[in-house]
Amino acid sequence: MAEKLNGTVIVTYRCNARCNMCNRYKAPSDPSEEISVETIRKLPPMYFTNITGGEPFIRQDLPEIVRELRKKSDRIVISTNGFFTDRILALCKEFPDIGIRISIEGLEKTNNAIRGLPDGFRRGYTTLKKLVKMGMRDVGFGMTVQDANAKDLVPLYELSNRLGMEFATASLHNSFYFVEAKNVIHDRPMVAKQFERLVNRLLDSRSPKKWFRAYFNHGLINYIYGQPRLLPCDMSFDTFFIDPYGDVMPCNGTKDKEVMGNLNRQTWDELWNSPEAEQVRRKVRHCDRQCWMIGSVSPAMHKYIRIPALWVLKHKLKFWTKQKYSMYENKICRDYRDGKVTKEELDRCSTCDFSQTINDGLSDVSREKLKVRTGEEIVDADIAAQTGKTEE
Ligand code: SF4
Repeated sequence: MAEKLNGTVIVTYRCNARCNMCNRYKAPSDPSEEISVETIRKLPPMYFTNITGGEPFIRQDLPEIVRELRKKSDRIVISTNGFFTDRILALCKEFPDIGIRISIEGLEKTNNAIRGLPDGFRRGYTTLKKLVKMGMRDVGFGMTVQDANAKDLVPLYELSNRLGMEFATASLHNSFYFVEAKNVIHDRPMVAKQFERLVNRLLDSRSPKKWFRAYFNHGLINYIYGQPRLLPCDMSFDTFFIDPYGDVMPCNGTKDKEVMGNLNRQTWDELWNSPEAEQVRRKVRHCDRQCWMIGSVSPAMHKYIRIPALWVLKHKLKFWTKQKYSMYENKICRDYRDGKVTKEELDRCSTCDFSQTINDGLSDVSREKLKVRTGEEIVDADIAAQTGKTEE
């Protein structure tokens, strides 16, 4: 039997948050076109599936989707903003072995300013606590670090630790998926310093899983300085994304949507072995975007385990001799500190491009709807219709 894959299913582009680093809420998909259970049935066996959006719980048929995916995936993790508490709790009652990651961008004030969700922190945090109380084991925070919330990174990690939760990090990326090309870290040393503190906290723990997370966060320092990835990117070889239209893509980090095939119209084997898929794989081999998101790094960490394992070993040994991890182990951090490279040069290494026209990856039908109403109006009306007002 073919090797199991790592898949991400973007069930919708509708989102009720208003994050400052992602414009997807302005470009929602039309529900009539969103991926159906029939299409999901055609997906291959997977060892891991991430369900994401938009906000996946906007879809009222999410339980049906999870039921179908559960049959073909060993592990499922859903990324959500935590707003639809009742829906999340109901799903977790049915599937106590799934994982839930709630995006929280910092402590209360910072989170609410960044995510633009009314009462977002309290809602997300309350949902997480209820999940822990009902015995869910795989729950946690997901935080995208930027200048505005970097100082909350370690306090949020400590909060998640006290509650016995997972803590997933990311930093700013630009792509069609985020409908964004202007994201960039401005004060790199300040942000890197916070990652350095987190790396040391993680290395100091007794959990091997956290030591490998330390490596991932070390990679984020490398990423925000615009340096080549620490591990090869093999997206589209053993990993895929599928969008709400059934288009199968290598990842969510490309500038424009790269399509390997369409699962509404093709079988999995047809599209996965198609010339279009091969063409995308050739592009991935030459991709220079250097993303460092867990979706592309986690499979690489498993595949090239020797590299992170050696890093962990080296740093655990250092720890035992009371030497902590330093961001200045990264040459680029030293070069910037020593004035050998300028901020402008580092900015040019990033994917930030103020002149870029963004392709949001929407279908013609979804785009047509945006001619009469904004994405926010469409989604607000949608949620109001679903809940009778707004969900409490
Ligand atoms: S580096 Fe990898 S994850 Fe990023 S855009 Fe390129 S192929 Fe996608």
